[in-house]
Amino acid sequence: MSQKEAQKPQKGALKLENKTDKKKEEKGIHTLYKIEDEKVTRLRPTCERCGAGYFMAKHQDRYTCGHCGFTRYKQVEK
Ligand SMILES: [Zn+2]
Repeated sequence: MSQKEAQKPQKGALKLENKTDKKKEEKGIHTLYKIEDEKVTRLRPTCERCGAGYFMAKHQDRYTCGHCGFTRYKQVEK
């Protein structure tokens, strides 16, 4: 498998901010989804509001957060 890493040329990054607390989501992580019956084992999308650790419930066409009620529709590309 050849996974291309999108490397964008930096345009004069003059800021010295160095945030390392932002994890980069790995592509192809969907292969790690384990769905047994109605149970989804780990690796579900996490809530954008609550942050990592708060998994979202999987629905047919959307994900919802049981913590804050945030709903995130699956992106369907036509
Ligand atoms: Zn939430």
